[in-house]
Amino acid sequence: MNIILSTDNAHKLKEIRELVDGKFRVLTKTEAGYGDIHPVEDGDTLQANAMKKIESLEGEIVIGDDTGLFVSALQGRPGVYSARYAGEEGNDEKNREKLLREMEGKIDRSAYFKTVIAVKRGDEIYTVEGICPGHITESPRGEGGFGYDPLFIPEGYDKTFAEMADAEKNAVSHRGRALRAFVETLKS
Ligand code: IMP
Repeated sequence: MNIILSTDNAHKLKEIRELVDGKFRVLTKTEAGYGDIHPVEDGDTLQANAMKKIESLEGEIVIGDDTGLFVSALQGRPGVYSARYAGEEGNDEKNREKLLREMEGKIDRSAYFKTVIAVKRGDEIYTVEGICPGHITESPRGEGGFGYDPLFIPEGYDKTFAEMADAEKNAVSHRGRALRAFVETLKS
């Protein structure tokens, strides 16, 4: 069975393929022929944005995910605005710089990542989610991953997501948890 992903993000694709490998064939948006579709992520919630990502795509199973980093000392910012935190959509480095600036001098560095996955399967549309608690570092660490990974240490670890191998990140990450919840729904 095919799963169409509403993204061309190579990191996300790798993470997702690793989790569902063997059970499903995972196609990116472009591989599925939807390369020209670019949904505007201007919803007020992760759920609304995840839904926007699947609305124009058709397939056996279509999934769209939206993720936010919610930081306690910043009253939950960047949250649903994580992708455009520093203004420019998709500029990971500027987003990280802004986060570190805003966190200067903050004692409470607790934060969590949350992923919502919207699923379209035949007539059925539903969402699943995954949360990963942790804290924000004082400076970037590690070369792997993407986005805010060099700044985030998941609870129970002393290394950032960017210092972990993909499989290690997947085992605890927000997206890994949401994807496993999604895969569970396919068994029922
Ligand atoms: P989206 O889910 O692609 O909309 O991502 C929203 C923002 O969160 C972007 O700035 C991404 O780089 C960032 N992001 C999404 N997933 C992760 C992750 O697993 N680790 C670090 N940053 C992420």
